[in-house]
Amino acid sequence: MVVKPAIKGVHVVPMGFSNAFLIEGDDGLTLIDAGFPDKEAAVFGASRRLGCSPDQLKHLIFTHGHPDHIGSAAAIVRETGARTYMHPLDIAITESGGPFRPLTPAPGLLGRVMCRVFFHPNERVNPIAIDQPLTAGELLPIAGGIEVIHAPGHCAGQVALLWRPGRMLFAGDVCMNVMGLGDPVGFESLEDGRASQRKPASLSFDAAGFGHGRPIARDASTLFRDKWGERDLSFHAQCRRAA
Ligand SMILES: [Zn+2]
Ligand SMILES: [Zn+2]
Repeated sequence: MVVKPAIKGVHVVPMGFSNAFLIEGDDGLTLIDAGFPDKEAAVFGASRRLGCSPDQLKHLIFTHGHPDHIGSAAAIVRETGARTYMHPLDIAITESGGPFRPLTPAPGLLGRVMCRVFFHPNERVNPIAIDQPLTAGELLPIAGGIEVIHAPGHCAGQVALLWRPGRMLFAGDVCMNVMGLGDPVGFESLEDGRASQRKPASLSFDAAGFGHGRPIARDASTLFRDKWGERDLSFHAQCRRAA
C-alpha cells in the first residue's frame, strides 16, 4: 500500500512498524531504508504503482544499521541491483546481519515498553553489502542533492538525510513521531542523541519523515526547533515574547 505522498515526489512505504521512503528523481527511484524483514513486496508494489520497473530503483540509502531498517535490504537489492549507502560505523554490523549493539531505553514509559517490544540486539537478519560509505556533511548527487548529517546517539552510524529539492528531512531514528515528536525507542548514548536532535533543529525544511510514526508535511523544522532548538533566553527575546 502506498500512502499518499507527504510531499511531492516522496512516497511513504509502510514496512511493518517502520517506514521506508521512495523518492522520485530524474535519476530514477531512491529508497531510504529497507524496513523489517520480509517486507520487500511493499517496495516492489510501490515502485510498480509509480510505473517503475525494479531496475529503476537505483539507490538504497540507510539511515542506520538496525534490523528494522535493513531487514528487507538483501531481497530488495537482489531484485533491483540498487547501490547501497551507509555511515561507516554501522557497516560491519550490517554486512554481518547482526548481532546489534545494545540500547538503553529512552526516558519515559513509552521508551521502556517500545524498546523491549521492538529491539532485540541478538536478532539476525540477512546481511547486505554496502557499496558506498557515507561521509558527514557530504552532498550526495542523488535525486537532485541529499545532504548527509551524522547524528549518532540512537546508533553510532545514524544519519539524518536532507533532500534539498523537496526540503524534506529523513530523520531515521534520531527521533520518532509516535504520539507526537519525541525520542526514539532507545539510545546507545543519550548525551550524543540529545546533541544530534539539536542538529536538525538548526536547519530549515518543510517536511519530515521518520523511521517510526507519521510524516510531517509542513512547518516541520519549526516543530523540531520548538522541541530541541537552542532557547533564546536573552533579555531582548523575553521582551519580544512579552510584547
Ligand atoms: Zn534504530
Ligand atoms: Zn527503527
